Amino acid sequence: MSTIIDGKAIAAKLRAEIAAQVKKLQTQGITPGLATVLVGEDPASEVYVRMKGNACQDVGMHSVKHTLPAETTEAELLTLVDRLNNDPTIHGILVQLPLPKQINTDTVLEAISPAKDVDGFHPYNVGRLMVGKPTFQPCTPYGIMVMLREAGVDLAGKEVVVVGRSNIVGKPVALMCLQQHATVTICHSKTRDLPSKVRAADVVIAAVGIPEMIKGEWIKEGAVVIDVGVNRVGEKKLVGDVEFAAAAQRASAITPVPGGVGPMTITMLLHNTLEAAQKTVASTR
Ligand code: NDP
Repeated sequence: MSTIIDGKAIAAKLRAEIAAQVKKLQTQGITPGLATVLVGEDPASEVYVRMKGNACQDVGMHSVKHTLPAETTEAELLTLVDRLNNDPTIHGILVQLPLPKQINTDTVLEAISPAKDVDGFHPYNVGRLMVGKPTFQPCTPYGIMVMLREAGVDLAGKEVVVVGRSNIVGKPVALMCLQQHATVTICHSKTRDLPSKVRAADVVIAAVGIPEMIKGEWIKEGAVVIDVGVNRVGEKKLVGDVEFAAAAQRASAITPVPGGVGPMTITMLLHNTLEAAQKTVASTR
């Protein structure tokens, strides 16, 4: 039976540390501020934005929520982003995705100042991640790396298989594992014989969005399994991309859904916002 990597507990520990750092920064007259921008009325996005705002308040940060109607034009959104870029009380800007189709997502993400890009999606920061320079790391992959570290997993020389190649999870987490000296395979919908790829993995990171598609019997004995997927099954039940019970029989450590990667994502957003605020202090010295 495997160890459960408890994302909630790791997140709680980190949030306490962040709250202490926020207090310290406040003695220097700065309260880290996060602006969230939600365009339209997607219920899931509303929940995420509310959770992010609440998490800020819990650690003593300042958060401002901007809710714009679904018919907002790209120009109107860019005007708001520009205002937030120039607002000294705001250190991090998060534009909740997806955006309505009349708005070009890339144009908006590129308009956010890289110094306030706490989601780590601006091409400048993505490029810095690619070449291994310090940057805002995208929150979900960053959270995964912290969980692996907390679970005592040394990636050097390990075979890591990432299933999923999105810009927000699969690709960046693969790069981060590579930087930690893993041998990385990235799988996607055109990958041939996925089971054999997963069977060879010391660490499996599943970010697909298909309920329980990674079968327990594919998991190598003793492998570490990180399940990023959040899939609603029926009215209330959430399941991951991995067949949890069967995989837990073989894995040495595994993340649950819920309570695994999810709590870490918002925690790393807080971490990045704190860091953005700390940098403004450092730059005025
Ligand atoms: P995307 O839909 O952007 O990407 C899914 C990836 O899975 C694609 O690369 C796709 O391949 C690949 N894929 C689809 N079908 C298969 C298949 N049959 N075999 C192998 N690969 C396949 O999803 P995201 O990366 O945004 O999210 C993935 C999951 O993680 C979702 O469940 C999402 O809800 C969850 N998530 C959870 C977060 C958290 O905080 N816990 C944060 C972000 C996401 P291709 O590129 O070829 O289409």
